[in-house]
Amino acid sequence: MPTVGWIREGDLDAFYESTERTPDPGPPREPGFSCPFCTAHFPSQSEFQDHVYAKHRVERPFILLRGQEPSAHAVLRSPLAFSEIAVSNTGHAKIFLDGAGPQQVSADKLREIIAETYQSELKFELINATEQRATPVATQYGFSFRIAEKSDLKRVEEAFREILVSEEITRNSIGSFLSDKRTQGTGKEYASGLADYCLGILIKERPKGESLTTPFSRYRELYGRALDVLKDFPRPLAKLITCIIRFALNNFENRGERTGYWELDFAIELLSDPCSASLTRPLESATRRPVCPIDHGTGRMLELSKRLTAQQRWSPILDDECRTLAHSDLFDVIDHQKAFAIWAASAWRLGSTECALEPLTQIAEVYPFSRWASRYLEQAST
Ligand SMILES: [Zn+2]
Repeated sequence: MPTVGWIREGDLDAFYESTERTPDPGPPREPGFSCPFCTAHFPSQSEFQDHVYAKHRVERPFILLRGQEPSAHAVLRSPLAFSEIAVSNTGHAKIFLDGAGPQQVSADKLREIIAETYQSELKFELINATEQRATPVATQYGFSFRIAEKSDLKRVEEAFREILVSEEITRNSIGSFLSDKRTQGTGKEYASGLADYCLGILIKERPKGESLTTPFSRYRELYGRALDVLKDFPRPLAKLITCIIRFALNNFENRGERTGYWELDFAIELLSDPCSASLTRPLESATRRPVCPIDHGTGRMLELSKRLTAQQRWSPILDDECRTLAHSDLFDVIDHQKAFAIWAASAWRLGSTECALEPLTQIAEVYPFSRWASRYLEQAST
């Protein structure tokens, strides 16, 4: 017969059993919501949610450079002051400088590092771990510092003046500018932006001597690439060229910035808002010197706007002049639109509503001119 003797309790078992205690369950607990982060207890769900939201919210940490959050992979080309860098919702940061790290630093130390770095790759993670019992929230960024020395930028500009401003733009001259020893230092990227701009001019103008196979429309791509790089350089020349490029591409977002190149500043005002455009024209001084080349199409548009705004009254002869330019095969479609816009704006300003109708209908649907053209058209037809 099998026996069950082996489950018989020994005295040791009896001893252990007597030491185990189930905690006293106490009075029954009020039904409700217990906060998982602290000891608070709430009878209603909404109160509980309000509590968690108010006391235990972990916000996403972020950094602002000059008031804007940079993209996850940003290129920095101009130096930042300590006060231009703001770090929020951050307990600490983990940084990798030029591949070395990680190093744990405070938010202020990170700001210091960013303000003092000129040529480096910095990857970092901002960490918000204020809530001990929750997973920390982290945001990652990567900055490429390509901040050139001021003296290097000056040398690039010197080479630019010598090679591309005083002489003709050709593929050869652009090549010798890029291989000049003054453009090899930390200002190399600046030089490539200037070279892209000049190559854009060359492709847009298509001089007879250069046998170009690149399609005409590629000039916009080159202008765009130059704009992307040059807009970050805190140099008057870079600012002037970025304004010219924006104007050339019918982009008036940065209206209000003054370049000191009167014709351009005025034309931008005129095409942004024809009725309110006003800029006192400076006295013509004989000391103006060429600082950078402008493609002929854009140059013609600047001349047109200058000539028309100097007029006292409108006449069909001016209409004819504008019409010829606006339909000329030699211009790009962007320049056609600009010619219509200058025509419409100038005629409208001189009170010749009727003459403005023809160009207005051409640009009423074309952004950014549509912002005022469609309104004028409506006014004129009522
Ligand atoms: Zn709580």
